[in-house]
Parts: sequence; structure tokens; C-alpha cells
Amino acid sequence: LPHVKVLGVPFVNTSLETCLRLLKSWICDPQPRTVNFVNAHCLNVAQHDRYYLQVLHDSDLLLPDGSGVKLACRMLDQELEANLNGTDLLPHLCDMLVADGKRLFLLGAAPGVAERMAEKLKERWPDLEISGVHHGFIGPEIIEDVLAQINQGTDLLLVAMGVPAQEKWIAAHRERLQVPVVMGVGGLFDFYSQ
Ligand code: UDP
Repeated sequence: LPHVKVLGVPFVNTSLETCLRLLKSWICDPQPRTVNFVNAHCLNVAQHDRYYLQVLHDSDLLLPDGSGVKLACRMLDQELEANLNGTDLLPHLCDMLVADGKRLFLLGAAPGVAERMAEKLKERWPDLEISGVHHGFIGPEIIEDVLAQINQGTDLLLVAMGVPAQEKWIAAHRERLQVPVVMGVGGLFDFYSQ
């Protein structure tokens, strides 16, 4: 896929359709992939946090999120095809999961938020299979239990712990997550559960 680089962060420049086709094939493939989003805030954080920048580079797919990134690209004489943010992708991902009989796990945000989001998703997609939900304040005493819950049969894991904590959490645990696609989605649960 074509790439655009802004402040040392390379993300894909492609259409929503191409992005969805790729995600659909990855969700149906056991090989582990990590997907992250980059918005203007992320670009700023990455300038001062080398490890976060490294983790972004190591993502299998890095998607451009928001008008700040679009504007930055334009200033570099590169036009972005599409704004591929988590909020806009979510309904397409749910359609995809239902069509393919795949399972979603929601990990992140304060206690109760992922549960409310799951209820909302079930209202709109009654056939959506949710393999589990868990809040995002995970100390060492519960990590094994949380990993076991996720690994019971999840095809897409959304991690909403904020930037850059979620990207680092995913990188630290990726090898132990038996999940085809893991995606860091920032404040999406707070937004969607309202
Ligand atoms: N959060 C979490 N675990 C933590 C710290 C934060 O799950 O250890 C959650 C917090 O409850 C909120 C989200 O991470 O739901 C951060 O949201 P924010 O809007 O700051 O994310 P951004 O998209 O700006 O990174």
C-alpha cells in the first residue's frame, strides 16, 4: 500500500474500501497483526517518546486519523485519500464480524464503559458475537486472567487505554495474545458508550 511520512511516522494512504478489504482478510487469518491509528496528538507524542515511535513503526498497519494529519500531509504536498479513524471504521468492522461469524473483545476504559458499549453494539448488531469485555486498568495481579479471557476465542481485539499506553500495552503482550487482529482505539469506548 502507498505510504505517507509525517514527522518520521509512516502511515498508509489508501481508500476506506482498500483498508476494509485488508482488515477483513486479516481478521480471517490466524497470523497476528497489530493495527494502530495516528492523529496529530500521536505525532506530537512520538517526537518525545522514542519507544512509542518504535512501536508505531512496528505496527502492521498504521492508519491516518483526523483532519490534523490530513492538513500536515497537504503542507507536505501529499494528499490523503481518506481519513481512516476508529470511529468511522467501527460500523464497518461490526458488519464484517457479523458476516464472517467472527468475535469481538472490548478491552479498555473505566469499569462499566466497555459493558455499556457492548450493549449499544448489540442493539445495532444483534448477531454480533462479543467474546468478552474488560476495563483498561489492568494491574499485574489480573493480567493472566485478562489474557486468558481474551484468548478464549477472539478474532478482533479493540484496546482503548489512550495514547501511548495502549500501543505499548499491545506491544508488550502481543506475543501472548492469540488474536488475529489487535487494534488500539484511544477514547473510542468513552465516545461510543454515551
Ligand atoms: N484508560 C485505560 N487504562 C489506563 C488509562 C486510561 O483504560 O490505564 C482509558 C481511559 O479510561 C479512557 C482512555 O483510556 O477511556 C483514554 O482516552 P483518551 O480520550 O485520553 O484517549 P486518546 O484517544 O486521546 O489517546
